[in-house]
Amino acid sequence: MPVVIHKDPVTEAQIEVDTQTVHNVDVKRLYLPVVITAKCPVCGKQVKHDLKEHYLSYPAFNATETVGLMCFNDDDDECCSFSVNVAFGFTATLVTP
Ligand SMILES: [Zn+2]
Repeated sequence: MPVVIHKDPVTEAQIEVDTQTVHNVDVKRLYLPVVITAKCPVCGKQVKHDLKEHYLSYPAFNATETVGLMCFNDDDDECCSFSVNVAFGFTATLVTP
């Protein structure tokens, strides 16, 4: 499995980050600093979906998640709902004090 290794030459600390094995996140409401924008397949309007406001439920990292988006017209009526596929991963780095 691909593992990214970070080493600190001063402290000789090391971390290994598995960037491929699916990692299930056991969190019912996970908010992330990720904003998705996509074109509505019906009306063509740009739809914004902020994952700091709309949570993911029990997502998996190092895997592809289907994220549902909703488009509303100017009268706040639902135009349609559609989804995009997003691959979530994470990074970790050593910080030298
Ligand atoms: Zn639309």
